[in-house]
This record gives sequence, structure tokens and C-alpha cells, in this order.
Amino acid sequence: MKSRFRGLVLPLLALLIAAPASAGTAPPVLATIKPVHSLVAAVMAGVGTPELMIGGERSEHTYELKPSDAQKIAQAGVIFWIGPDLETFMTTPVATLGTRAMLVTLETAPGVKRLRARHGGLWQDDGHDHAGSYDPHIWLDPQNAVAMTRAIAGALAKADPANAARYRDNAVKSIAAIEAQERKLAAALKPVRGKPYIVFHDAYHYFEARFGLSPAGAVTIAPGRPVGPRRIAALRQEAESRKALCIFREPQFAPRLVETIEAGTGIRVGVLDPLGADIAPGPGLYATVLARLSQSLIRCLDKHT
Ligand SMILES: [Zn+2]
Repeated sequence: MKSRFRGLVLPLLALLIAAPASAGTAPPVLATIKPVHSLVAAVMAGVGTPELMIGGERSEHTYELKPSDAQKIAQAGVIFWIGPDLETFMTTPVATLGTRAMLVTLETAPGVKRLRARHGGLWQDDGHDHAGSYDPHIWLDPQNAVAMTRAIAGALAKADPANAARYRDNAVKSIAAIEAQERKLAAALKPVRGKPYIVFHDAYHYFEARFGLSPAGAVTIAPGRPVGPRRIAALRQEAESRKALCIFREPQFAPRLVETIEAGTGIRVGVLDPLGADIAPGPGLYATVLARLSQSLIRCLDKHT
């Protein structure tokens, strides 16, 4: 009796070990920033959960790679990132990646519309030449999130064909939800169109273009680099002459700088967060990031009528 079972079990075990990934198992997936992770998590719902690289309150511009990140990169089967203009800390590990991992660059995915980086006036701090380069904050246009979701589902279907139908179904649902939210936000933001404000860094071009908003400039175009007293004086002057109603800080950067600019000008201070620093990572994060941007803008700007 015993030996007959053993005779069956051993070949079965050997078969299991030799078999390729079964239908229920997703490959290890890594996403760099929270909004990308959120779009990927929505497409992977019911199959698996992607790993996140930048959590917490760190900026996408000043991030430095940790040893645990190198390990995550080495273990990943599929890596989703915006591209070399945003996650500059990724360019070295990406260049040395083996052929084992599939790298998906979302800023050049089909259907993603890119805007040129802004410069001139308050969009520029030091005459540094940014001409010709693209603004990498592509995810803040919901239409780009739609294109990114399609690209994510396509890449995952290729990496994990057994779950391809699931990825496609999830993507269809995600896209419908993103487009429904876009219509809601467009209606909600209408009253603040044309009202000037200043952002901390130039992260919201896509959101502003999509919803017809009127930013006057950014405090810094190089987050993480110090802003000098001349720049602060210029910002105060510009803010007054352009009648900016609000100045928005970001949770990734200390509030002191924005407070210095605001002091005595009568400008209101709000918070905008392009990444969702204090929002729990997961499929719902993306919609929450957009909803909060919209709420912060309305709360600060609509008071000034
Ligand atoms: Zn940014």
C-alpha cells in the first residue's frame, strides 16, 4: 500500500517541479512609483500584487537606490517605470539588467501623449536649458493613465500568458473607472479655471492641461536643490504682480521655503501631492491622488471669488 503511493507521489512531485508557472502564479512584478504601482495593481487584481520601490514621503527626483531596491530589481520578472527622465536613479541598474526581466518604459508606451517641459518666467530658476526635453509626470493626465493601463495589460499578458484574459478584463474595468473620474473632475474643476496659483515643482502640467487650469509658475524646477534669496524675492514679486491666489507646497519637501515666500503676501497655502505620499499603495491610490489634487485646488482657489 505504502510503496504504491510513494511510487505515484514521486513522479508527481517531479512533474510539479519541472512544470512552468501555473495559471494562478504571476511573475514577480516591480513598479517604481506609487501611481504606476497603483495602475499595475489594478490590472493584476486577483492574480498577484506588484512590489513598490518608492513608498513613503520621498520625492521621485531626489530618490537614491537602496541595497534592498537592487535586490528587488534583480528578482523582478517585469519592471514598470516611467522612464529615464523621471527615475534617474534607475538608469544604471536598468543598463546592467540581464535579459531575464522585461522592462516596460511607460513614457514611450503607445497612446501616451507627452508635453514639453515648461520654461520661461516662473517655470525657470537659473537659465538652465531644459528646451527639448519632455515633462515626465505623464500619469497626472488620466488619458495617459488609460494608455498606460493598456500597455501594462499587454506587457503582463506577454510575460504571463496563462492570465492574459484576466489582465485584459481588469484593464477594461480600470479604464472605465479612470474615464468616469475624469468626467467628474472636469465638472468639479470648472469654477477654478483661470485662477492663478503657484506650485512647488512643475509636476502638474498634464493635470493642468487636461482640465484647463491656470498655474503662474513653480517655486523650483530642480527639487532638492536649494532656492536662493534672489529667487525667493522674484517669486514674491511675481506672485503679487500675477495676483496668484494660492501657493502649494508638497509633502515630499519641508514647508519652510513655501512659508518664506508666502509671508506677508496674503497668498493662501495649500498642499498638492503628485505621488500620494500618505495614501496606502494599491489599486485605489491612483484615483485618490487625482481626487485630492482636485479637492486641494478647489478648496484653496474657490475661496477667492
Ligand atoms: Zn516631479
